[in-house]
Amino acid sequence: MTDYKIQELQPGGYSYTQQLKKIEIEKERKTVQYISEGAVFFLLIVLGAVWVFRSVRRQFQQSQQQQNFMMAITHELKTPIAVARLNLETLLKHKLPEEQQQKLISNTLEEAGRLNTLCNNLLLASTIETGNYQLTTEKIDLSEVVTESVNDFSMRFPKRKINITLLPGIFFTGDRLMLQMAINNLLDNAIKYSGKEENIYIHLTKEDEQIKLLIKDEGKGIPDEEKNKIFDKFYRVGNLHTREAKGTGLGLYLTKKIIEQHNGHISVTNNIPGGSIFEINL
Ligand code: ADP
Repeated sequence: MTDYKIQELQPGGYSYTQQLKKIEIEKERKTVQYISEGAVFFLLIVLGAVWVFRSVRRQFQQSQQQQNFMMAITHELKTPIAVARLNLETLLKHKLPEEQQQKLISNTLEEAGRLNTLCNNLLLASTIETGNYQLTTEKIDLSEVVTESVNDFSMRFPKRKINITLLPGIFFTGDRLMLQMAINNLLDNAIKYSGKEENIYIHLTKEDEQIKLLIKDEGKGIPDEEKNKIFDKFYRVGNLHTREAKGTGLGLYLTKKIIEQHNGHISVTNNIPGGSIFEINL
């Protein structure tokens, strides 16, 4: 455009140099304008592309996690049903000695317990998701709730060593069922993710109106880069080939939600020499 305008000028005409100068200034102004507009548009396109890339990646990860969840859930539902059915059929068809009968019955009860926990977790997850969940608050004896959970797990897993130290009569205002569920999820994980010979420790204390619950295991622990992610919905460490324990990736997500709804905080650190420590502060 500048070249064209210069050609159009009458050389030697009236105020030729002035008009030439004007055209040059206009050229400089336009150049700066186009470069800055171009840079802004380019930046917007780059930002948009990054945003689209991240959204697509997030969606892909979510659908992957949901697919894993569906596979895990089908497996988790089918196994206890199949085991319970087989045990009951065996009891019905054969006259077994008393000791074997007891073993089959307690095994069936254990599977029914797992099914119950799973259904509770699923129901709670969908209620939380739709925002319909209402806490029922009452004054509860937390020492009693923790002791009940530990007794329940000691009965279900008689060979596991669960050590409990707590102060009696620690009261807290909250939802008893939900808190019990949170504690059960942590205990369940401590058992699932540590060896049969390894100890589990529970401490419940209260200092200056601050209640602290520690659940420690001596298992293989959780890598630092995974510590935040394990509280995400459906998240499980490792992949299908490296995971040994069964699960759905819902337990810690719900536990965190429950604790936060009680204005508390949950965190995880490394146990020494190995394992994890889950700490709840209320
Ligand atoms: P799930 O146990 O059903 O997989 P959770 O939400 O309870 O789901 O736990 C998420 C993941 O965190 C687990 O898959 C496991 O990899 C890891 N994790 C949880 N608790 C422990 C623990 N005590 N020790 C080691 N890893 C754990």
